[in-house]
Amino acid sequence: MTQEHLNHLRDRIGQVNMEILHLLSERAGLVAQVREYKEQCALNLYDSEREASMIESLVASNPGPFPDRVIRSLFKEIFHASLFFMEEKTLDDMMVSVQAGPRKTIDVKGFEVGTEPFFIAGPCSVESDEQMDQVAAGLSQLGVPILRGGAFKPRTSPYSFQGLGVEGLRMLRAAANRYGMRTVSEVTDTRLVDVVAEFADILQIGARNMFNYELLKEVGRAGKPVLLKRGFSATIDEFLQAAEYIMLAGNTNVILCERGIRTFSRRTRNTLDISVIPLLQRMSRLPVVVDPSHAAGRKDVLTDLTAAAFAAGADGVMVEVHPHPATARSDAKQQLTIAEFADLTNSVARLATQRVPTPKPTPAAMTARAGQTNLQTAKMTVRPKN
Ligand code: PEP
Ligand code: MN
Repeated sequence: MTQEHLNHLRDRIGQVNMEILHLLSERAGLVAQVREYKEQCALNLYDSEREASMIESLVASNPGPFPDRVIRSLFKEIFHASLFFMEEKTLDDMMVSVQAGPRKTIDVKGFEVGTEPFFIAGPCSVESDEQMDQVAAGLSQLGVPILRGGAFKPRTSPYSFQGLGVEGLRMLRAAANRYGMRTVSEVTDTRLVDVVAEFADILQIGARNMFNYELLKEVGRAGKPVLLKRGFSATIDEFLQAAEYIMLAGNTNVILCERGIRTFSRRTRNTLDISVIPLLQRMSRLPVVVDPSHAAGRKDVLTDLTAAAFAAGADGVMVEVHPHPATARSDAKQQLTIAEFADLTNSVARLATQRVPTPKPTPAAMTARAGQTNLQTAKMTVRPKN
């Protein structure tokens, strides 16, 4: 073989490589079109039977010199690369993702959630007109923009107070209107979405319903902002995928709410997951609210947890407040009085700035540093001049 012939063969190999590359790209384009069609028709993206039959027909037509096993493994690799196009969407591709658009702020009747730190407060359950009036009067004085109150209560025991239903929604609305507040209330069932949306400015999906996909789709169609609570056993990805359900149904006004997860810890009702706050802020473009009341299940740590939540980057904090917690018909142990809530709001700012280390070097460190400077200066002075 001459050098010229060798060069020619090498050139030809280069050309074949290019042809293979172009064919692979063409194949990827075809796969992408198949994916789009399958998504439109809600068909399974991955079809293992079709992959097996394609490999068998390739092996049957194998002209050599490659043995069948090499053909099999080469094409498996090509199919594997195409899976990139066929794969189910990752979080990065979803509407909820930080990459899908600018950080969302959510307009709730003129109050823009996501722009400045704020509180949501109010009783666990709406119990009477008088209770709601007292709490709304106190909270509006303290500058709380959003009043909470459960009317449909998802109680662990079927014998516990189940809420006042539509009558409770009416009481919540009336008290909020009297004091210029917005309202949030939980919707527990697809059949109740319309009535809760009639009275509440924000629809709350409770922790027990975060995995109720039909309910998520239904509130996605309701046209009101949604406060989505994290299920007590939900991973961050599951939480964000639940938010995606709501967004995909046409409602991008979703507020994420961390309310504690179940762990082995027994001194608190749940464990507040502080790390989820910066993670959600990094991964998603939705505002993040923290509910320390349901996380702790006790009131003595709420101020500290609130300070921690804001310090970790929460946009808002939701606290249960009742005019007379001792007589509350649900969650009596964790609800603050209006005065206790006022103390909390006063202490939080102080805590957030006070409880950080203020590093002061020890005297020894100062002396050593000074000595170091002297050494350096000394070295410089003894350095021979040019
Ligand atoms: C609530 O906020 O009223 C409530 C029931 O909370 P969770 O769904 O987080 O238990
Ligand atoms: Mn409660």
